[in-house]
Amino acid sequence: MTSEADGDLLDVIVIGGGQAGLATAWYLRRARLSYVVLDAGEAPGGAWRHGWDSLRLFSPSSWSSLPGWPMPASPGADYPTRDDVIEYLSAYEQRYQFPIERPVQVEAVKVVEGGLEVVTDRGVRGARTVVSATGTWSHPFIPDYPGRSRFGGVQIHSAHYESPEAFSGKRVLVVGGGNSGAQIMAEVSLAADATWVTTEEPLFLPDDVDGRVLFQRATDRWRAQQEGRVIDAPVGGLGDIVAIPSVRAARARGDLNSRRPFAAFHDQGVIWPGGEEERIDAVIWCTGFRPALDHLRPLGVVEADGRVAVEAGRSVREPRLWLMGYGDWTGAASATIVGVTRAARDMVAVIQQALV
Ligand code: FAD
Repeated sequence: MTSEADGDLLDVIVIGGGQAGLATAWYLRRARLSYVVLDAGEAPGGAWRHGWDSLRLFSPSSWSSLPGWPMPASPGADYPTRDDVIEYLSAYEQRYQFPIERPVQVEAVKVVEGGLEVVTDRGVRGARTVVSATGTWSHPFIPDYPGRSRFGGVQIHSAHYESPEAFSGKRVLVVGGGNSGAQIMAEVSLAADATWVTTEEPLFLPDDVDGRVLFQRATDRWRAQQEGRVIDAPVGGLGDIVAIPSVRAARARGDLNSRRPFAAFHDQGVIWPGGEEERIDAVIWCTGFRPALDHLRPLGVVEADGRVAVEAGRSVREPRLWLMGYGDWTGAASATIVGVTRAARDMVAVIQQALV
């Protein structure tokens, strides 16, 4: 184990202190490696600090835990709320006293002799290896519809959506057919004249299927892969819509019918494929996120598709760099609370070997 204070490099710098950074820290601590977590957030909680007011997980607390300490059951609710998760992550990092520094924005990672240099807005740090766990929240994705910049109405991404009140009485399009789109449509449709726009018919999971079943299926798939077996596509993926109570209620009201996308924007609304123009006050984009990897560009590892080429989470081009929590490409279900545990455990085992 090495330490920066001795003039040596740390074993590991973890960039990002959301759930992926914390799961990584838990295993680094257990492996007795020297490390620090640098997090740009003002407070614990990662992306959950920015979730909308009514956001609920799609899995119960017993299936939403990080390594070592289970998430406490949420009082009076089957599915934990945004604030339950923030509270859990705050208590989790307190409990283990991880060395987390915030707010520290990492601006660049560069190669130096013996390791990697991490350039931040609070100075330069060095380590033999780096784990990037910066999530996706800071990179909301909006598809490029013709005339979008001309549209004079409100446009907001789900990353910045808080509650339906701002849309009361307005004509609103909710765009995107995943869990965010469904949950936001479920409540905006109560306050506004809302239309749900999805590229294809949304896929609802059966009412008795929630995150537990999805994680179980992801695990079965992962085991099969390890053993060289193939599982014939099980029903449902982690992106399919979980029928949490608000979604079920909206579906029962008939508010979750969707229509296929418009062709273009005009100044005050949209033009549907048949040429019909409609006045629209606001568009809520529930169209997902992309990995936040700008700080890795100086390493020359970010590919044209915005990702880093990895093998088991380790950069192919820069073997002292690992990525954690961005999606299945950095470990099966690693972008979920329970899934990141296994991915972080496997990653830290390999880092430990690499540092010998
Ligand atoms: P984040 O939580 O985004 O943490 C990244 C951290 O890195 C942040 O604190 C950020 O400030 C910091 N950072 C970013 N860039 C830098 C930088 N350059 N320098 C320093 N720090 C930086 N998962 C579930 O398991 N169950 C669910 O029910 C569930 N529901 C979801 C519902 C919605 C609407 C969404 C959007 C996601 C949901 N997820 C769910 C998925 C997942 O749990 C989250 O996306 C999760 O927050 C990802 O964690 P992370 O640690 O990878 O990233």
